[in-house]
Amino acid sequence: MSSNPIDSPPTAHSVSPFPVHSRLLLVDDEPLILEGLSRLLTARNYDVVTANGGRAALVAIGKQQFDVILLDLGMPDLNGNEVLRFIADRGIDTPVIVVSGESAIDAAIRALRGGATDFVRKPYEPEELLRRIDNTLIQRRLERENNHILQRLQQSEKWHRFLVNSSPDFIYTLDVEGRFTFVNDRVESLLGYRRDDLLGQHYSLLVHEDDLGRAEHIFNERRAGDRSVRNQEIRLKCNPGMRRPRLMNGLCKSVELTATGMYDEQASAFEQRFIGSYGVAKDVTERKQAEETVHYQAYHDLLTGLPNRALFRDHLGLMLAQARRNQQPLAVLSLDLDHFKVINDSLGHTVGDELLLAVSARLRQCLREGDTLARLGGDEFAVLLPTLVSRSDVEHICRKITQALSKPVHVKGHEVYISVSIGACVTPEDGEMIDSLIRQAEIAMYQAKSRGRSRLQFWESGMQAPYSERMQIEADLRRALVHNEFVLFYQPQVDALSGEVRGFEALLRWWHPQRGMLSPGEFIPVAEEAGIIVPIGDWVLNQTCAQIAAWRAAGLPPVRVSINISARQLETPDFVETVMRALQVYSLDGKQLELEITESLLMRDFESNAIKLGRLSASGIRLAIDDFGTGYSSFKYLSRFPIHTLKIDQSFIQELDREENVSIVNAMVAMGRGMHLNVIAEGVESEAQLLRLQQMQCHEIQGYYYSPPVSAHEASELLSHSMRGFARGDRLATG
Ligand code: C2E
Ligand code: CA
Ligand code: CA
Repeated sequence: MSSNPIDSPPTAHSVSPFPVHSRLLLVDDEPLILEGLSRLLTARNYDVVTANGGRAALVAIGKQQFDVILLDLGMPDLNGNEVLRFIADRGIDTPVIVVSGESAIDAAIRALRGGATDFVRKPYEPEELLRRIDNTLIQRRLERENNHILQRLQQSEKWHRFLVNSSPDFIYTLDVEGRFTFVNDRVESLLGYRRDDLLGQHYSLLVHEDDLGRAEHIFNERRAGDRSVRNQEIRLKCNPGMRRPRLMNGLCKSVELTATGMYDEQASAFEQRFIGSYGVAKDVTERKQAEETVHYQAYHDLLTGLPNRALFRDHLGLMLAQARRNQQPLAVLSLDLDHFKVINDSLGHTVGDELLLAVSARLRQCLREGDTLARLGGDEFAVLLPTLVSRSDVEHICRKITQALSKPVHVKGHEVYISVSIGACVTPEDGEMIDSLIRQAEIAMYQAKSRGRSRLQFWESGMQAPYSERMQIEADLRRALVHNEFVLFYQPQVDALSGEVRGFEALLRWWHPQRGMLSPGEFIPVAEEAGIIVPIGDWVLNQTCAQIAAWRAAGLPPVRVSINISARQLETPDFVETVMRALQVYSLDGKQLELEITESLLMRDFESNAIKLGRLSASGIRLAIDDFGTGYSSFKYLSRFPIHTLKIDQSFIQELDREENVSIVNAMVAMGRGMHLNVIAEGVESEAQLLRLQQMQCHEIQGYYYSPPVSAHEASELLSHSMRGFARGDRLATG
């Protein structure tokens, strides 16, 4: 243990054999003696101070410190014993050698009792006196050194005790038998035991039952030095009888343990004598809990707490091996709720989540102890039935599931009916590979769905996975640009009073080779998700600019055209440049182009958008807030953007007959006007709506009442007539 810092003694200064320049005080009332003595000692290199009586001695002692005092006893003014008393009373620790002519032994005894260190009789041999002085000085020096060492030892022990006790780790020593001989204070806050309760107790009192074997192994090894046990994880039990402080949030603490064997250093090198162990236990409970949480999250679905796909795969792997050994069939089911998306979209995610919870609880009730129910994602569940007799067992369980789900689920005041489509495959006939079993069950489930939902379908070889509609659209979209399948339609924006065409909104259409004309709602979300919206948006921008240029070339009056900008587009770093370039290519005035952006999109990346739109606005390009009223609707924020147009969302316009909407729209128009914005009402379908909006002094109207979005050719016609304007009843038929 000599390498242990706790044991290394504080370094002692070496004692110098002969004190140099020691300062002596000589006290005697005989001037001759005083002088002779002084000469003798000065010659020997001592610093000498003389006092010719007791009083003079007191004055000298009060003034400075001496290493030795040579004191006469019989003095007229104040005798030697009185000087000794003075020295003792003041606690002065200078050694005093009494030098006296008194021959009586009791004089010497009295002086020594009074605190003198030595007694020399006059007359003395000078050498004898010098030897006595030197001895006293050496003695004195040694004493000082010892005191110093002692103090340092005490200090260092205090220091180590402090370190040990304030350590964040639990520090212990055990005796040969494994009983605690020392524990630090930390044990109280860590495990709720008082130090005294543990001393003398066997360590097994603290070790969790399941870890006893490991602990025994650790301590029995009795390893020392480099081989000592390090970072072994075990669990320690908290004091069950103790009311635990809040910090101790469990019955157990996980610790990382070190243990080092201690051996008797006195014993010979051949027979090492084990005398116990010492070590440190570091609390790693929080880290363990964090690890467990991470582990749990990696293997469970957080909404339902069910195993996720990863854990399901693990279980399936284990059960497959077991099923093979026992030559028993095993089934994998894939379950998908029917029409869940509709419920989720119409009633909201909270209701959707509650429904999933309710469904998973009902599914659980249909299964047995050893079965595994997992949520693979969304509304898709999987079940592992590890012990089967036959396929009819699967059918039986699926009937139970269907029945359990047939009763409506009540969530948040809604009565929801739900059904489930189930696909199943059974080993060993359907293969024995983990992933292909899951995949096959899923394919069978899709089949069940396409065959009318709410049913069970076993996998059959040759079944093909359906290409999902979304994936199909995505694949087709990538082709659409190349094959020129997009067209723009234009919907006029008409002056609310005069009926003149003020502008158009360009709206995208897709001529799908198989499915006919698709409206943006059917493909824009997919295009956005797949990132294809950026090249599509570029196409819309360029096509629009080309159209404006074409109208100009045809001599039609200049008109403003607005295009819709999606999030992904606005986020591209070169968005501003792309727009400017398009204007340049067709030599257009920025005023003719308007960008429609929704409020929520603006707010997504406020600062960066403000910069981009500021640059665009500086070159004359107009900015419209689309679908106003459905998003943030904060005029305060909007005022930070260079906006020209406010487009009131059609949901407000179409319900203008509801009184509350009247006042909302009224306020929006008024505020828009107040901010000098061009206010457009979208989705105007009836004359009544038009009249209302006219009263509110809304600037422009866009909607089926005047015209649906029309082809570029029809738009040209409209433009050429626009001088005439729309007279009431002269509008295009809605189509
Ligand atoms: P939006 O920007 O709000 O466009 C207005 C939508 O309302 C258009 O639907 C239009 O046909 C429809 N509409 C116009 N008047 C009336 C009316 O009186 N009654 C009713 N019920 N609807 C009316 P559309 O063309 O189907 O476009 C839907 C959405 O798709 C647009 O909403 C816009 O957000 C998006 N979109 C359209 N074209 C593009 C485009 O080129 N790029 C991007 N990123 N999005 C586009
Ligand atoms: Ca729009
Ligand atoms: Ca709109």
